[in-house]
This record gives sequence, C-alpha cells and structure tokens, in this order.
Amino acid sequence: MPATLLDGKSVAEQIRNDLSDRIKASHRKLGRPPGLAIVLVGDDPASEVYVRNKLRTAEESGMSVSLTRLPGSTPLAKVIATVEALNHDANVHGILVQSPLPKALGDAAEQQVFDTISPAKDVDGFSPVSAGFLAQNRPGFVPCTPAGVIEMLDRCGIAVEGRRAVVIGRSEIVGKPMALLLLRRNATVTICHSRTRDLPGVCREADILVAAIGRPGFVTRDFVKAGAVVIDVGINRVTDPAAAKRLFANEPRRLALFEKNGSALVGDVHPEVVDVAGQLTPVPGGVGPLTIAMLMANTVRAAELAAAAS
Ligand code: NAD
Repeated sequence: MPATLLDGKSVAEQIRNDLSDRIKASHRKLGRPPGLAIVLVGDDPASEVYVRNKLRTAEESGMSVSLTRLPGSTPLAKVIATVEALNHDANVHGILVQSPLPKALGDAAEQQVFDTISPAKDVDGFSPVSAGFLAQNRPGFVPCTPAGVIEMLDRCGIAVEGRRAVVIGRSEIVGKPMALLLLRRNATVTICHSRTRDLPGVCREADILVAAIGRPGFVTRDFVKAGAVVIDVGINRVTDPAAAKRLFANEPRRLALFEKNGSALVGDVHPEVVDVAGQLTPVPGGVGPLTIAMLMANTVRAAELAAAAS
C-alpha cells in the first residue's frame, strides 16, 4: 500500500487559523498589529519568491509587514546598521534577514548579521542566543522549518517519544535544530551527514526519517524501513531531462509537467519511497507551507512577549 501523504497546506492553514485570535488580541493590547520586518539583500530569484510569499501571508494574517530592499553591492556595515535600526523600532516585533546573503558580502556575513538581530525579535531563530536556548531546552525562538515539522507530526497524530529518529543534514537552520527538537520530544536521535558511513543502513533504523540535504531524490527506497514516517525537507529545482526521467520513471503526470515547464521541484526523497514509507511529506506541498506558518507563529509570539513586557 502506498504511503499516506501528509498535507502541509492544510496543516499550515490550521496553524494560521489558530493564530487569528491571538493576532487580534495582540493588536488590541499593543494598539498596533504584530509587525514583521523583512530585509532582502540582492536579487536572488528564489529569495524573491520566498519573500513575496512571506509578505503575502503576513498581510493576509492581519499583521503589519515591511520590506527593506538593499542592492547586492551594499556593504556589510550598512546591512548591520539596517538591522540595528529595526531592533530599536517599536513597531517591529520580528526581524527576518532573507538567507542567503550575496556571496560578495563574505563567508562570515550571515553569521554577523544574525548575531546583530535582537534575541527578542529573532523570529527566524538563527541567532546564537536562540540556538543556545534550544540546545539547553529552554523557551525561545526555534527555526521555522524544523518547528513546522514538529507541528506537522503533532497535528497528524504521529508519536515521537521513544522512537528512533534519523536526521540527514546538520545545518544550523534545519538539520541541527531538527535533531534537538526531536530529542526534546524524547526520540532517540541520530544525525547523519556527508561523512556518515553506511548512510542507507543507518537510515533504515529510523521510525522517523528526516531528509534535509539539498540533493534531488537522494533518499531512495533502500534508505527506508517499511512503514517509516519520512519527512522530506529538501526543495530542489531539477532542469536536467535525464534526472527528471530517473526521478519520475513511475509518475507520467509529473514527467509530462516537467516536459511542459522545463523544470520541476523535487525533494531530497526519491518519489519511489512512496511504495515503502508509511507516511510521507510530498514536495511541493509538504514541509514548505509550514515554514511560513511558523514564521507567523514566531512573530505573534514576539508581539505577545512585547505586549507582556510593556
Ligand atoms: P545545507 O546545504 O546547509 O546542509 C545540507 C546538509 O546535508 C549538510 O549538513 C551536509 O552534511 C548534508 N549532506 C550533503 N550531502 C550529503 C550526502 N551526500 N550524504 C549525507 N549528508 C549530506 O542545506 P539546508 O539549508 O539544511 O537545506 C537542506 C534542504 O532543505 C535544501 O534542499 C533546502 O532547499 C531545503 N530547505 C527547505 C526549507 C523549507 O521550507 N521546506 C527550508 C530550508 C531549507
């Protein structure tokens, strides 16, 4: 029997519905809506799409949202000064600097910028203070994508406690916080990465397997224990027809769409895994919508904390 697909769009809608009364209450208490400030440096096409979606969702949710656009040639000091000004702006409860920053700003730029965001407004959860709170199992802002995965598991009634969880990927924004959140829920957690030996063998031990690698269709059926929950965080655009043929060998509709559009979005999990897993998040429409929903949730929380402190 094919895996049950976990519908991220409907879970994201539930999360946003649940936020609606809290947004109105914060608005009343603060005398203004919860405010999110987005900073976009450069003109990366994927970032443009992500930022547009975040702006639209925040507006539709009844929050105030601003976008500061800076050209790719902006010096790092100016980006940092922009964030500092937002730290002091009482109308702004959450700050998001869209990643990745242009390469020209240097390797350490992103870390320096995230270090500058006030921990009280760190709705992306990328600052070292937020990361430290998560590592110490204390309340704080949690990165939106792994937080969304936990919401998905909870709202789909998938138990975590006592189960074997394997996370492939150890990035600061997905893999590492994902593993810590699963540990917080009392899973027995293994983190895998590019140097892991016998990766398929380790993954086959998982009751819950999370793939956050950035390689299309990397996780094939030999990585997956029959009936496992498979969470596909990857978002990869495939443009190579040979790769599309391999990925969509059993999915003529997706192959036809690829041929029509010249590209397709695929996850890190190969579509054939649907025949082995018990539950699986599709790409698109799985984890993706949850990331934005959790950004809204973090911003509402930041506004509530600001209201409580005022
Ligand atoms: P990253 O490049 O920072 O990290 C990738 C991780 O994968 C690394 O830790 C690396 O060790 C591991 N890895 C790479 N090659 C490997 C291999 N051959 N075997 C085992 N491990 C390997 O990427 P990231 O920012 O963590 O993102 C991962 C994926 O998730 C990307 O596809 C990204 O687009 C996607 N993503 C999706 C969302 C969302 O909203 N759904 C949000 C963030 C990232």
